[in-house]
Amino acid sequence: MRVCVTSHFSIAHVVKRRNSWETLHGHNYKAVLCVEKELDELGMVMDFKDLKLVLNGIIKKLDHKTLLPSKNKEINLRLEGNLASFQIRNKKYTLPLEDVELIPTTNVTAEEVALYLVSKLREKIQASKLELSIYESPDMFVVERV
Ligand SMILES: [Zn+2]
Repeated sequence: MRVCVTSHFSIAHVVKRRNSWETLHGHNYKAVLCVEKELDELGMVMDFKDLKLVLNGIIKKLDHKTLLPSKNKEINLRLEGNLASFQIRNKKYTLPLEDVELIPTTNVTAEEVALYLVSKLREKIQASKLELSIYESPDMFVVERV
């Protein structure tokens, strides 16, 4: 059986397209995490509260941040003091370092964010099957199953 919990988070990002970069913009995401395994002796797959705590704990690190892909060589990133400066082509941005989160990806798409979050969730959840859906809007979402 599967149990699922939902959580919400907001991030800003700059997505690389095939020949261009989008402008810096943000989304309010919905994350739906489902875990599948056999019922335990209490008749539960997993306590909803525990599952939501895990999801929220991981999402909290990204929430209300500008996400940057640390593996993208086109982004010239400099961390100086409490500032993060980055340049993409002819655009330069400077933000407070505490408002920026680097994730080990080459782009900050919903797909890459989902893969990153699933890798973090896998470290905390022992279920045999795990599914994370990331909704960028009510009618556009990605699903990763492991
Ligand atoms: Zn976007």
